[in-house]
Parts: sequence; structure tokens; C-alpha cells
Amino acid sequence: MGGESKNKKGNTMAEEKRSFEMSRWSLDDLYPSGSSKEMERAIEDLKKKVEKFEAYRAELTDNVAFDKFLVVIKDLEEITKLMQRIGGYAELWFTEDTQDQAAQTLVARMEQLSADLSNRILFFNLWWKALDDDSAEKLMKDSGDYRYWLEEMRHFKPYTLSEPEEKVINIKDVTGSRALNMLYDAYTNRYMFKLEVDGKEKEMTRGELMSYVRRPDADLRARAYQALYRVYGNDGPILGQMYQTLTRDWRNELIGLRGYPTPISARNLANDIPDEVVDTLLDVSQKNAGLFQRFFKLKARLLKMDKLRRYDIYAPVTSSSKEFAFGSAVELVLDSFEQFEPRFAQLAHKVISEKHVDSEVRKGKQSGAFCATITPELTPWVLTNYQGHSDDVATLAHELGHAIHSLLASDHSIFTQHACLPLAETASTFGEMMLVDRLLEEESDQSVRRDLLFRQVDDSYATIMRQAFFALFEKQAHEMTNNGASVDELSAAYFENLKTQFGDSLEIGEEFKWEWVSIPHIYHTPFYVYAYAFGQLLVLSLYSQFKQEGDAFKPRYINILSSGGSKAPVQILKEAGVDVYQAAFWQGGFDVVDGLIAQLENLA
Ligand SMILES: [Zn+2]
Repeated sequence: MGGESKNKKGNTMAEEKRSFEMSRWSLDDLYPSGSSKEMERAIEDLKKKVEKFEAYRAELTDNVAFDKFLVVIKDLEEITKLMQRIGGYAELWFTEDTQDQAAQTLVARMEQLSADLSNRILFFNLWWKALDDDSAEKLMKDSGDYRYWLEEMRHFKPYTLSEPEEKVINIKDVTGSRALNMLYDAYTNRYMFKLEVDGKEKEMTRGELMSYVRRPDADLRARAYQALYRVYGNDGPILGQMYQTLTRDWRNELIGLRGYPTPISARNLANDIPDEVVDTLLDVSQKNAGLFQRFFKLKARLLKMDKLRRYDIYAPVTSSSKEFAFGSAVELVLDSFEQFEPRFAQLAHKVISEKHVDSEVRKGKQSGAFCATITPELTPWVLTNYQGHSDDVATLAHELGHAIHSLLASDHSIFTQHACLPLAETASTFGEMMLVDRLLEEESDQSVRRDLLFRQVDDSYATIMRQAFFALFEKQAHEMTNNGASVDELSAAYFENLKTQFGDSLEIGEEFKWEWVSIPHIYHTPFYVYAYAFGQLLVLSLYSQFKQEGDAFKPRYINILSSGGSKAPVQILKEAGVDVYQAAFWQGGFDVVDGLIAQLENLA
């Protein structure tokens, strides 16, 4: 394109600069409000669609015609989209302000409604799973984009119960495990933490508090962690009990009723990752614990400490506390995407310009960050709690990376758009790495360069080793709870897990035994966390391929992303030349980290 489009783009960027301000997002693309007539109409429409769908029950036989089958699937797709849209609105509204009672009420109402409606359409899923292999294959043969979704449902055939039993589980989950999770969120999200900063006691959210563990002041870092676990530890016995109840529910249902061999294998099947691949990943991770211990020892030297404390693992190695205004952070992220592939920058820009980003810090707002994809037609929504540190810029790149992934896969149906968990972090982590590369390119100051390299290894630690050890703890905690262990015994086991992870590289304060009750993932989505380690090691390895191959690599990478969840992850990766069964593949990811640490050791 000529200069004209460049100028036009220049103007657009200048105009956008003013709108690159921290803000609350707009949910108008979903509904004008939770109490609007549009919302009520959508709910009525959903009920009608489900009623119509129920009439298909009699027509679904072993020899249903393919055309009829396709009509049924398309109607199911419409129902799923509408349910996602209404439920998505409720949940996004709730994260905006978890203390808003109207939002809480709508979430609860939608949970109830979607459980009721899901029960009424459940017969399709059950019929499909019960169908004999030949009839199923005949129908799947020409099902195009729906194929993998249909195949995947049948994976659950051996673990599926009768229709009345499935209904009972759905109904009881609303007031059981799901209610308990919501209670955990509502309870812990209202925690406020007290920390003395510059001689003044401040009250803050967890997101704000945790920004202090990345500050140069060692005492402040320690006090921030102590403030965190004082609050979680006080409620530890209750939060721990909630966790134990959820793990018992998990075991009773998945092993007791459905017959999965182990607690983690239910997650592995949902991810469509063979058990032995996950075992290999966790095994190789455990063997590489020494790698990060070496890193922490190096960090101690640079911080002029004899030994690092657990409080110091995210300490900055230089005293620079460079801050990024939100507007320039957005530009940096867009620029780094642009350098890789202009389409990536355009897609990220779309999310921002459509006001789908909630960036500001507010009391009651959900802490952390996420990207939510509602339906393939809708641009995803991104939530962050932006505070101006380089870490926040990376988080922005991360979540926008998720959005790009969804948008690249938006040609797929709602059933096949989402990448399964282990591939779900590919674009996000790759996005972060592009940003860091961009920052490294610009930076000539050696100490800032070192800071950036440190940050990259810090992140690899947090994403790989920390998560792998969480998963190892979860495996242990599920077993221990089954064998009647108390909350205190779980805390003691968690403390041992930390000692194995850090070896002699760190001094660990006793309060860290309560860390596990502060990790929402292990409550909401048991064994989710290994997906982070999977994703990061995968990306490290893909990124080093990109460095070696340059442009030739891009189509293979874009293929991985645009495949979304339309094929088995092992298959998608195999097509990109990756064999996840091999321990050597995972070791390759760790070798990249080893290289980064060696670079740092030379700088030190
Ligand atoms: Zn992510």
C-alpha cells in the first residue's frame, strides 16, 4: 500500500492516542444493561429455542438422515451462542464489580437457567455418545468443522451416566460445587490488605498489594507477602475446608460415579492430552528444578544478599522502577505485534477501539487479568488491573494475545473456536515474548537490558516451574484428602512441596504454607495449571524456531492459532512439527531458559 494508507493510519493512531486511556469496558455489544428489555427478550428467545429443540428428541434415531442431523446441530449452535451471550454478560458484569448485588443476582439466575436448559437439551449429547461407532462415523464423515467437536464428545462415552443421573448432577452442582466456588470468590475478592508504605498505612486490594513484591525495597516486599498471608492464613482453615470439599466432590463424581482412573485424568481427557504426555511434562519439570535454583542464587548475588528469601523472587535486579503510562503501553504492545505481523496489531487494535478492555483498578473489581471470548462473532473482552509497571505492559500483551488467538480462529463454530487449555496460552505467551524482544531492541542501557532478561526468566519461572509444582501439589492434595488428611496436613505438604521446588536456594517464611488457599485456579478448575507449563515450554520452543527460521516460520505458527480447537492438540502440533510425547521436546523448552540464565551469568 502507498503513502496514503500510511498517513491515514498515522492519523488514526493519533486520534486513538486520546482514547488509549484507562477505562471501564463497555458491554453494549452484548446488552444495554442487565435489567434491559433486550436482556429479558433474549432470555425468552432462549427458552423458545430450547422448547423447539426438545421436539427433535423423537427424530434422533440410529438412522437419522444427515440433513436432519445438520439442522439439529445448527440449532444447538444457536442455543449455545445465545446462552453464552447472556451468561457471558452476567459474568463480565460481575467481574466489573463483584460486590454488585444486581450482578450477583443475574449470575445466579443465569446459572440456574442454564442448568435447567442444559438439562432439557442434554438428550442430544447422550444420544450422540450412545450411538454405535458405524452410525456415528457415517454422520461425522461430512460434518466439516463440527467433526472434532463430535469426535471429542464421544471420548466421554465410557464416563457418561444415564440421563436422569446426569440431570441430578447438573442440578446439584448449581447449589453444590459451583455455589461453593462463587462463595470462595465473593469471600476472597472483598479482602482488603493493610500495608505501611512511606510511613503511612494503606488499605489495598490484592492486585495493588502484589505490585509491592516487585519493588526494590526488601522490607516492603516481605511485609507485602506477610500482609497477604495474614489475611488468607486467618481464614485458612475455612478456605482449606472449601478446597477439600471441592476435591471430594471431584473424586466422588469423576472417579466414584464416572470411573476415571485418577483425578487428573479427567482434566487430561477434557484437554485431549494423553496421560503419559502430562506425566512426562511434570516429570521433566521436576528434574529441572535445579535450573531455577541456579537462577535464584544468581539473583541473590546481584541483590547482594547471602541467600534469597521467598519474598525476593520477583525483586527487580536494578533499582529502575520505570513506569509506563497506559497510552504508551498500548502503543508498545501494538508496535511489537505490528513488527511480527501487521494483522496481529490490527486485531489487537480492534479489541481496544471497540472498548472491550477494562483496564483501571477499582475496589470490588476482580483482581488479575483475563480475556473472555463469548461467541465467534463477538470481539473478545479483556480485563486487566493496569498499574504502570513493565509487568502490567506484559500482561496487556498477554491478554491481547489471547484475543488475537480467538479472532484468528473466529471462522470456526462456537464448538471449535476455543483452543483447548494447553494450547490456549500459545498466542498470549508468544505475544509477551514479542513485546520483550521489542523492548530489548530499543534498550541500550545494560542494566535495563539485564532487567528485561531477568523479567523473562522470572516469568518462565512463574509460568513453568511454579505451575508444575502446583499441579504436583494438587495430585498430592487430592490423594491426601481422600485419605482423610486435615487442612493443616495439607499446609504441611504444601510447605514440603516448596522446599523441593526451591532446594537450598531460598529461605521460605512459614506463612507460605497458606499459599495454596489463595490460588483460585485449584478451586475453580482443578489441574488447570499444568496447561501454563505446557503452553510456555511449547512457546519457548516455537519462539526459538521463529528466531532460526524467520518469515518461513510464520505460516506454521498462524496455522496453529487459526486451528483454534478444531483438531486434537497433539495433531495440531504434529502438523507444526512438534512431538509432545518426547521428553526431549520438553527439555528443549528448558534449554532455552538455560540459555537465558547463562546470558545473565555472563552479564553478572
Ligand atoms: Zn493467559
